Amino acid sequence: MSRIRAAFWDPTASRHSIPTYPWRMAPPHLLTLRQLTAEGLRPGGQGVQAQILWRSRRHGAPGVRAAYLYDIRLALPKRPMTPAKWTALAKANAARRRCPDCGLDAGFVISRYADTCTTCHYQRADARTETAA
Ligand SMILES: [Zn+2]
Repeated sequence: MSRIRAAFWDPTASRHSIPTYPWRMAPPHLLTLRQLTAEGLRPGGQGVQAQILWRSRRHGAPGVRAAYLYDIRLALPKRPMTPAKWTALAKANAARRRCPDCGLDAGFVISRYADTCTTCHYQRADARTETAA
């Protein structure tokens, strides 16, 4: 084992705050959030159980990088989307498309900066130039 990998080998958390493994050396029951999701699971209230540390030479962000691991034995099945949840989601998305000025569905999510549909935005801009003139 190289010196770097040995530095990250700490399954008993004697040198790190949580059990730590080098890249590709974590036990198979510890998965990342993405890996849990791929298995149709969610952490289910458990906190981070362990971490993988590795030295990255990625351009712009070199240094030690971490991936947090969850125990598959404590994981729970992902809650499926119920019809009520789909309705709530559709309602929330519709609200984000509605222009507060004219009350119409803009057909896209209104930007937080413009905060109206494009028609209202330009009407406002026109009104401003008219009062200025
Ligand atoms: Zn509008």
